[in-house]
Amino acid sequence: MKKIFIEETITRIGEEVELYGWAETIRDHKKVVFVDLRDSTGIVQIVGGPQLSEISSEDVVRVTGVIKSRPDNLINDKIPTGKIEIELKDFTIISKSNSLPLPIDTDGYEVDEEVRHNYRYLDLRRKRMLKNLRTRSEVITFMRDFLTKRRFIEIETPILTKTSPEGARDFIVPSRLQRGKFYALPQSPQQYKQLLMVAGIERYFQIARCFRDEDPRADRAYGEFTQLDIEMSFVTQEDILELTEQLFTELIKKVFPHKKIKESPWPRISHKETIEKYKSDRPDLRKNKEDKDELAFAWIVDFPLFTEQSQEDFYHGMGKSKYAPSHHMFTAPRQEDIPLLDKDPGKVRGLQHDLVLNGFEVGGGSIRIHDPKIQEKVFTLIGFTQEQKDRFSDLLEAFTYGVPPHGGIAPGLDRFLMVILGEPSIREIVAFPASSSGKTAVMHAPSTVEKEQLEELGINIHEGK
Ligand code: ASP
Repeated sequence: MKKIFIEETITRIGEEVELYGWAETIRDHKKVVFVDLRDSTGIVQIVGGPQLSEISSEDVVRVTGVIKSRPDNLINDKIPTGKIEIELKDFTIISKSNSLPLPIDTDGYEVDEEVRHNYRYLDLRRKRMLKNLRTRSEVITFMRDFLTKRRFIEIETPILTKTSPEGARDFIVPSRLQRGKFYALPQSPQQYKQLLMVAGIERYFQIARCFRDEDPRADRAYGEFTQLDIEMSFVTQEDILELTEQLFTELIKKVFPHKKIKESPWPRISHKETIEKYKSDRPDLRKNKEDKDELAFAWIVDFPLFTEQSQEDFYHGMGKSKYAPSHHMFTAPRQEDIPLLDKDPGKVRGLQHDLVLNGFEVGGGSIRIHDPKIQEKVFTLIGFTQEQKDRFSDLLEAFTYGVPPHGGIAPGLDRFLMVILGEPSIREIVAFPASSSGKTAVMHAPSTVEKEQLEELGINIHEGK
């Protein structure tokens, strides 16, 4: 007898098989009882005698039986296994389930989000959530495949690291071995990917987790998110845009064939034009905003290298100055604008590119500065003190040993999936998201720690501000 997944049942009519899963619904007609058995691949109907009524909803069961075609009048077109059913031979209840604290047979939007997060392992049993997770996995698999075929190397970079400013607040982790010192969780692997270019990797990518302590919004997760982090050597901005465009175009053809890309090649709009014409740096260029299958990609380019510095920028690691970087401080100015760095920094245009989809910014990147003198100049312009500059001395030193010109991009995986799956929030496409107050699903982090742990770290917590 063969142990199979439920989706395989339709190809094995007449065979006796062994199935495992959860009992979704039980319909008790006294002499005949129907159980809908669910596994990660689908649902199938089990038919048996009154003994099946011992099973309750969401029990985990093992079932053996023979796959039979259903009579024509009992075919259910709504499920892929609707033409067959399993005639029960035997079953075992492996694990009983209490009645669930939330419904899982709906799409779930109507359920209180805190309850869904508290019981995320149940919430993920619903069809919509399983589909979202599966699609996410398919998208990542496609990206890996696409890039490795084009000589990219997937490389992991450290999570316990030093501050890598992307304009947000850092999460910091105290060091036990070097008391009084702290690691920062990476806001992105920006400096590491640039170091990898110095190392001669030439084409790097990573499905990278990034950590930013910023206030949550629907299109921004609290705490952490995932991006497809890419860096390439000896490339122009054009090369980066082309590669990204090709990646997403092929990805959509393969994983989302019913979606239509509105315009190819994707329009390129200068920052000035988008602000003037659309009053936004992430315009929604769809023809019909109601059409959920229309995808309007666009590139925004020619950003000013600097924006006016805000209190936030200063607070998040910039020096005191009129200027803050538009993208980040490693973005290169356009070659012809370099003289303006001394004369009129506000007029310098940067080699930054933002990827916009249906009104959302789904990625950004740039050609990087690879001349230590220009990097130093940018640091000065954003008001870095010598001490602040010293924090980046490793990168600048690396650049003195033969650095290739390089650049990259980082499309955000969560936001892209949210848009393409038409979900209202990023939390719908993350398995275990944090709530808007920063509490993690199921495990309820953050939590207090033992006094001894704090002592070991030399940390004293005092109440109040
Ligand atoms: N590090 C940038 C970010 O996380 C992306 C890039 O410049 O490649 O937004």
